[in-house]
Amino acid sequence: MEKKELLDLVIIGGGPAGLTAGLYAARSQMNVIMLEKMMPGGMVSITAEVENYPGTPDITGPELVGNMEKQARDMGLEIKSEEVLLIEPGAGINGHIVKTDSNEYIAKSVLIATGSTPRKIGCVGESEHLGRGVSYCATCDGAFFREKEIAVVGGGDSAVEEALYLTKFASKVTIIHRRDKLRATKVIQEKALKHPKINFIWDTVVEGIEGKMIVDNLKLKNVKTNEITDFKVQGIFVFVGYIPGTSFVPGIIDKDQAGYIKTDMEMRTNIPGIFAAGDIISKKQRQIVTACGDAATAIKSIEFYNDWYFEEEQYL
Ligand code: NAP
Repeated sequence: MEKKELLDLVIIGGGPAGLTAGLYAARSQMNVIMLEKMMPGGMVSITAEVENYPGTPDITGPELVGNMEKQARDMGLEIKSEEVLLIEPGAGINGHIVKTDSNEYIAKSVLIATGSTPRKIGCVGESEHLGRGVSYCATCDGAFFREKEIAVVGGGDSAVEEALYLTKFASKVTIIHRRDKLRATKVIQEKALKHPKINFIWDTVVEGIEGKMIVDNLKLKNVKTNEITDFKVQGIFVFVGYIPGTSFVPGIIDKDQAGYIKTDMEMRTNIPGIFAAGDIISKKQRQIVTACGDAATAIKSIEFYNDWYFEEEQYL
């Protein structure tokens, strides 16, 4: 059997956390590869505008992650387009095995930075109308809704920021939120609350999405009165949070109740040599800048772990 090269580090996931980790690891001259199943960039690559990443006051999501990717590649990071299927902790001599759809790697350390994917509402008609009026990405699909009336579901930063972005295209944007207060950051709440194209429907959930071929109606339920009403729209954008991308992560790695990976402040999981960073970890703040910060911390921890664990007396 072909002997596999022992890598210093495999980074899984190519969003801001993974790309920052890749930059730092390559700069520290680690023998590192990044595995990303799609295009690098993560959720930021489908974010319209980013106004709170320091030093880049006027930048789109794709531009920001494009810059991060270029910087990491220029530093020497190798990015492979492969989907990770399994991690086998400690299964290789001196390292962890990472199995992908086309390869197998052995590394002293593994950094999980796979972020999260959009959560669905889970109502009748949602899946059936995907791409026919139902969307989870304003940057990708906003332009299809020029001069149309659309709804945005959710009350967090994503919903309100993306609703503001969608006003560039739609004639009217209605934010439907299950409570009577937004969760989003105050400054963007205020922008939305006074925007002439944005309306709000409070205390309301979407029970059904209807339309013969394309969306033309929502069944709404007021959670206080239980009243069901029809609401005519031509599109619905859903931003009701995210689900952590941990399908390949073994059960022995500790996670919180929502499925996010538990780490300590050095980004160590409960399994030595396996680290996690960015939106995939259990924490309160999920920002691009915090993901990048996690990644920089993780690489310092990984360097320390690799040097310590693989000292002569422990190296077999
Ligand atoms: P979030 O903060 O978890 O907000 C999800 C929203 O969807 C909440 O308002 C929630 O209502 C609502 N919701 C959840 N499940 C629902 C359901 N089944 N039906 C209807 N509504 C539902 O998610 P997010 O806005 O995607 O943000 C995720 C993280 O990324 C946050 O930490 C956020 O601060 C961060 N983020 C930051 C920026 C930025 O800094 N520029 C931009 C985007 C996101 P309740 O309020 O009632 O719970």
